Amino acid sequence: MKRKIISLFLTGVLLFSMVTPVIAASLQDQKSEVQDKIDEAEDRQDEVSAEIDSISTDIESLTESIAKYESELLVLNDNIAELENNIEEKSKEITKLQKEFEEMQQLLEDRLVAIYEEGQITFLDVLLSSENIWDYISMESRIQELTEADNAQMDEVENKRLEVEKAKNELEEEKTELDNAKKSAEAKQQELTVARNAKETQVANLSAEEKELQEQIDEYEQELKEIDEEIKKQQQASGDIYDGSFEGTLGWPLSSNSYGYNIVTSCFGPRNSPAAGASTNHRGIDLGVSIGTPVYASADGYVLSVMQTSARGLFVLIKHADDLYTRYQHLSSSAVSTGDYVTRGQLIARSGNTGVGSGPHLHFEVLTQPYYMCEINPLTCGLVSVPSNLIIW
Ligand SMILES: [Zn+2]
Repeated sequence: MKRKIISLFLTGVLLFSMVTPVIAASLQDQKSEVQDKIDEAEDRQDEVSAEIDSISTDIESLTESIAKYESELLVLNDNIAELENNIEEKSKEITKLQKEFEEMQQLLEDRLVAIYEEGQITFLDVLLSSENIWDYISMESRIQELTEADNAQMDEVENKRLEVEKAKNELEEEKTELDNAKKSAEAKQQELTVARNAKETQVANLSAEEKELQEQIDEYEQELKEIDEEIKKQQQASGDIYDGSFEGTLGWPLSSNSYGYNIVTSCFGPRNSPAAGASTNHRGIDLGVSIGTPVYASADGYVLSVMQTSARGLFVLIKHADDLYTRYQHLSSSAVSTGDYVTRGQLIARSGNTGVGSGPHLHFEVLTQPYYMCEINPLTCGLVSVPSNLIIW
């Protein structure tokens, strides 16, 4: 009868200790998955924001170049307008000179006709009256004199017109040059504007992606919170809720509601080997708790390994921030798997008596590297919030 009760009790303990970690482990898996997604989204977010920074720098320099062309175009436009004014003035001058020339030509023609008409009468008179031929000659020379004077005046006007025409041509050439410079500046500016617009679209797209990623991260974080709440609920249901300080870099690995949590049965450093095969240079501290006592993560981090060796027994090694690691040895079961993300005060295992030891206890280590001889004394390193009621055997 007694044996039956014990066996029932043992079955109950076994079921209890098996079932709880299984539920917690599946939630842990979910949590790790969500955390992985957050990490992935954050990595992408970093990439996106670096890309945005680099493109923004490009946009800045494009904007500078565009502004440079803009002021160049302003100057060109001013110069072109001035040239256009000058050309217009020259055109007016040319028209005026042309008119003057034509008027002079007309005047000369009229006068010549008048003189000829007068001359013809005089010539006929001369012929008919058989008077002196010299009169006729003298008239001819008078016409010539007049014509020469008029011609000189007309040449002067014509020369002036040609001069103005030449100046106008030069101005027009200059204007053509400026027009070409303007066209190429405009083309360049257009090209840069197109490039800038493309980059602005890129930034807009990336910003949208960044926003979307943030929304995803927020959602994932909400999911994490819900999973944590569920884990807490399950832990509460099984009585495995951490009770201890959350101050300091690392928390005490045992809850203050577990008997023996504050009893150090073996300190860090040289000692007499407590059992055959146990070290004489103790790399952690031993806490005198019985098999099945909940063990909690000292800080947030990733589970680096859950392993079983002949000396350490079943152990969990966690990597924290700032090159810190914690190891929990001689466990009876673990509630986490390699790669899991855990939070401070989260149930990770139950203590036991596996590996080399003189009895059930939790061997707890703090390390600066995940290697042998990188352990530091948890009680004196100043990182662990050590219970004030510590008892050292
Ligand atoms: Zn130990």
